[in-house]
Amino acid sequence: MIYSNNMTDTRVRFAPSPTGKVHIGNIRAAIYNWLYARHTGGKFILRVEDTDLERSTPEAIRVLMEAMEWLGLDWDEEVFYQTKNVKRHLEVVDRLLASGHAYKVEKTSREGKTGIVTMFKMPKEGVIEFDDIVKGRMSKKAEDIPDFAIVRSDGSPIFHIANVVDDIDQRITHIIRGDDHVENTFKHICIFKALGAEVPKYAHLSMIVNQQGKPYSKRDGAAFVGEFRESGYLPEALFNYLLLLGWNPGDEREILSRDEMVGLFDLAKVHVTAAKFDIKKLLWMNGEYIKKIPQEKFVEEVKRQAAMVVSPLPKRDGDWWNYLAAQLQVRTKMMGDIKEGVRYLFTDDYPVDEKAVEKRLKKPGVKEILEDLAARFGKVEDWSAAPLEELVKGLSQGNGMGPWVHPIRVAVSGRGEGIGLFEMLQLLGREKTLERLERAAKSL
Ligand code: GLU
Repeated sequence: MIYSNNMTDTRVRFAPSPTGKVHIGNIRAAIYNWLYARHTGGKFILRVEDTDLERSTPEAIRVLMEAMEWLGLDWDEEVFYQTKNVKRHLEVVDRLLASGHAYKVEKTSREGKTGIVTMFKMPKEGVIEFDDIVKGRMSKKAEDIPDFAIVRSDGSPIFHIANVVDDIDQRITHIIRGDDHVENTFKHICIFKALGAEVPKYAHLSMIVNQQGKPYSKRDGAAFVGEFRESGYLPEALFNYLLLLGWNPGDEREILSRDEMVGLFDLAKVHVTAAKFDIKKLLWMNGEYIKKIPQEKFVEEVKRQAAMVVSPLPKRDGDWWNYLAAQLQVRTKMMGDIKEGVRYLFTDDYPVDEKAVEKRLKKPGVKEILEDLAARFGKVEDWSAAPLEELVKGLSQGNGMGPWVHPIRVAVSGRGEGIGLFEMLQLLGREKTLERLERAAKSL
């Protein structure tokens, strides 16, 4: 045996080829590797397959690591850069040449250049088989796989040899990667065997697909980690969502803490069928994670975004901010939405949703309703949500408050949705409420 593989300790790796953008399918593979390592108490290695020198720039590598850090995917040991191991890859190729598992041949490239490449010699008979932890028994006739190149005519090692040699050197026990690599795996198993190395266990993950069942790509919407981050998804939500895209704990639970995930994760339970990406579900999940943000932290975020509307912020007491934050926290789905959601509370210069105006204000009788409300609200003693609600409830005589609530909301905030109406009025204050009700009534 040239190599000895100590298979007692689980060692997994994430082996991306950096391109400057991190696709959710790739990062899901990282998540599964990470969880498997943490679950088994093994090691999670980051191997940067940076052999594509044009795309694997320092910037692309930085983007990759930033995405991992953002999601809390911490790696063990030093980062391994594939390009640093080229000498080693070529040494191993020499051994394959010496043992008759590889040979050199003259090839003419598509551009018409002739050069010597090194080919791996596939066995000519028999079946290549492996038990995939996700997909079950996989097999292919050796004769159906032609010999393949492992060194280019310029002397650089090709993915197949670099990937396998690094897996051997890093003593990787489980290879968890996308099922676009299944065909490669048949080849790689032959290389492991030719080198007398133990073949690792494989878990091939099904693709993430769009609603039509086609591979999920940037044409379907946000597809890269950075895009989700910029549009205001929380890392915990994206992590949890991607985990559930292809795995579940075996019961109804969907929101799981990191500790629960680590405790429950099991490769054998990874789904065989492709996972459909569902942005609505991710949005829902993001909202659930927003609810978990500590209140003080959420209040700070509300203030930060409000300060983008008016600076300096007007004086409001702590209770006012806490009350506003509490209203927002239970219904915010995307952090970045807060700013527009509070604009009307700080300035009269807020956008007006014309559709909401058509639907809720430009109707017979609304002018009179608003005028009447302004008069009644002027006499309310305690300006807070509960008595205001009581008042409107009284007007509606048990027939539903819709005919009052909807016009008021549009009149005071310009929007058809938002926080609860009476809470909104409490926050807005009497003066502003009356001013806007009267202004809306006049405009009708
Ligand atoms: N760099 C390859 C990729 O990103 C490696 C795959 C693997 O072996 O995990 O597809």
